[in-house]
Amino acid sequence: MVELGHVKTISSKSKLTELKKFFSSAKCLQVKQQICDMGRRMWQRTYVEGNGGNLAVRVGADMAICTPTMISKGFMTPDDLCLVDLDGKQLLGKRKRTSEILMHLQIMKRQPKAVASCHSHPPHATAFALVGEAPPTKMLPEFEVFCAVGLAPYRTPSSPEMGKLVSDLCDRCNTILMASHGVVTWSSKSLEEAYWRMEILESYCRTLIAARQIGKKPKTFNAAQMADLMRLKQSFGL
Ligand SMILES: [Zn+2]
Repeated sequence: MVELGHVKTISSKSKLTELKKFFSSAKCLQVKQQICDMGRRMWQRTYVEGNGGNLAVRVGADMAICTPTMISKGFMTPDDLCLVDLDGKQLLGKRKRTSEILMHLQIMKRQPKAVASCHSHPPHATAFALVGEAPPTKMLPEFEVFCAVGLAPYRTPSSPEMGKLVSDLCDRCNTILMASHGVVTWSSKSLEEAYWRMEILESYCRTLIAARQIGKKPKTFNAAQMADLMRLKQSFGL
């Protein structure tokens, strides 16, 4: 797991030579490597198609390393990644940054705790987003403990309005379905935890759809069972 503690001394206003040194430092290389690893995991699990999906990790005082546009998330190398400020201005990187970066940055601005975010189109979770419905709750422990889900209305991907609607939900949600689009997750700990939320949500939605095919109403947790799960959640510091 990459330690994401901020190097506060370096910011988007630092000299270009300092920024270049920072962007090629061992710390940033570790972050870039983890972005490539999570991208591969998303592609292997068919959460992204074509050049879809994007990832971002906060670094320095007011910057993020993110994925570029027009690239398969399954086949990135650290050299492909971009450095941007929190307004989305590209500071470094050979490729052009993702057009969806604004949504990630709006989450990071709204939620100072957010260190990483992950966006993809996992088919079963996106099926719920297509019908404009958040998945029902109180059915599986992992989902209750790790994911707090919200549903943002549709806006054109990459638009500031989309980012605003998503970031408006961040106070109470770490896993956000975007109607007719996909999912974005964020974490205060690591990119891997943001990715886990994606995996847990997708697995949950797939299981719900399978349960619907059985044709019987799934059982839900009662109040005492939910209280127990909330205690477990607290013990994990979530
Ligand atoms: Zn998207």
